[in-house]
Amino acid sequence: MDCIFCKIIAGEIPSSKVYEDDKILAFRDINPEAKVHVLVIPKTHIPSMDAVTEENSAVVAHIFTKIPAIAKEAGITNGYRVLSNCGPDAAQSVPHLHFHILGGEQLPAHLV
Ligand code: AMP
Repeated sequence: MDCIFCKIIAGEIPSSKVYEDDKILAFRDINPEAKVHVLVIPKTHIPSMDAVTEENSAVVAHIFTKIPAIAKEAGITNGYRVLSNCGPDAAQSVPHLHFHILGGEQLPAHLV
């Protein structure tokens, strides 16, 4: 499958890994939008939030149980923001479900 995040999972494209287990991978965003910017992805290819179902949502719950430790491991000590862009209007650029963790500095109170 021609998916850049699947290639990162497969080790075909390098990444700056923060956390990995059998279900998920966390790595630093190549184009950070905050001092600390980490992406957390499921190892199964789920295209976006729109494709989350009762059958595949356990990995999403798993991601959310790991996010606090991933944020800490990445160096975040004073709060963070988690977001997922879904579809064209949200400017989703990689069609593999991912959660941005942003922190390491004071973030703007509002996104827009
Ligand atoms: P989104 O725009 O929400 O789909 O987010 C995709 C994110 O993936 C962007 O913030 C990109 O900077 C990031 N990204 C794209 N390619 C890579 C890569 N090879 N390694 C790390 N981050 C990447």
